[in-house]
Amino acid sequence: MIRRNLVTGGAGFLGSHLVDTLLENGEEVICIDNYSTGNKGNIEKWIGHKRFELIRHDITVPIQLEIDQIWHLACPASPVHYQANPIKTAKTIFLGTFNMLGLARRLNAKLLLASTSEVYGDSLVHPQSEDYWGNVNPVGVRSCYDEGKRLAEALCCDYQRMHNVDIRIMRIFNTYGPRMLPNDGRVISNFVVQALQEKSLTVYGEGKQTRSFCFVDDLIKGMVLLMNSSYTEPMNIGNPDEYSILDIAEIIRSKINPTLKIIHKPLPSDDPNRRKPDISLAKEYLDWHPKINFNKGLDQTINYFKTQTINL
Ligand code: NAD
Ligand code: UDP
Repeated sequence: MIRRNLVTGGAGFLGSHLVDTLLENGEEVICIDNYSTGNKGNIEKWIGHKRFELIRHDITVPIQLEIDQIWHLACPASPVHYQANPIKTAKTIFLGTFNMLGLARRLNAKLLLASTSEVYGDSLVHPQSEDYWGNVNPVGVRSCYDEGKRLAEALCCDYQRMHNVDIRIMRIFNTYGPRMLPNDGRVISNFVVQALQEKSLTVYGEGKQTRSFCFVDDLIKGMVLLMNSSYTEPMNIGNPDEYSILDIAEIIRSKINPTLKIIHKPLPSDDPNRRKPDISLAKEYLDWHPKINFNKGLDQTINYFKTQTINL
């Protein structure tokens, strides 16, 4: 039987790669997006396909559809975007997740929540495993997003406990690759675009803070495996290869133009100091681990942005 999938945020970076995978696997996809940080061009090639439907819709408003499973990704993910209108971000996360859980309950559909490593905040443990409850500033500039996603996780668990909704909670760590927006504001796209434009690379603070970057293809494989598994507790999906932000700037500069300058700008408030996923659960329950190393993933990302430079 062909499954009917709803992908919220399907015109975005991760959502559009997921849409590709589901359609290539022969499934049906309904994509809903308000195009606030997404791009119709990401899914343009599927418009008119008999197993694909595109709906312009804001998930803060309820919607009635007939589907078998929900991949709930709609939410701005870049700190620049989610802080631009933090009240809208909080509404998108709370009302959007509430509406999708209501739909899942009515239809007896499975729901996967795209949660985030941000639920760990400025972590006091390293690497971060799922049993860590986090260190989050509840009133800071990131709280619309990180407290929002913590509440979204709580809501999923309450719908599971009260109404038996079949949930998956995927804690996604920093992911990069083709289809990030050139003006996305996240570090990889910023550095690649700056270097291609022959501008200085902007490192915030001293650049000693770390992140661990997963290539999008690996991430989507993990997402599909998690949805298809019977694991209903939160699960980290990410690449444990950890780099300082200064290292990242140097690697990207050396690949594109080693003569460029690296300049320092103020560190944003509540910027997490170190981040690296413990992926033991994903290895044990999904037999998943990332396969694409940073060097290879970065080359594919740089090649993608080269095709976009005319629009920069
Ligand atoms: P993105 O900004 O590229 O995509 C989000 C999509 O959601 C966009 O197409 C946007 O237009 C849409 N959207 C936003 N608000 C909406 C609303 N109210 N109604 C309908 N559509 C709306 O971000 P992404 O990187 O693809 O992230 C997707 C999901 O994964 C998000 O939930 C994010 O929190 C989570 N996540 C991503 C990362 C990452 O590194 N990319 C890390 C952790 C978690
Ligand atoms: N960062 C940076 N220069 C930039 C963009 C980001 O130094 O031009 C830093 C940012 O301060 C953070 C890290 O890179 O420490 C990752 O930032 P990003 O916005 O990509 O993701 P997040 O902070 O949500 O992990």
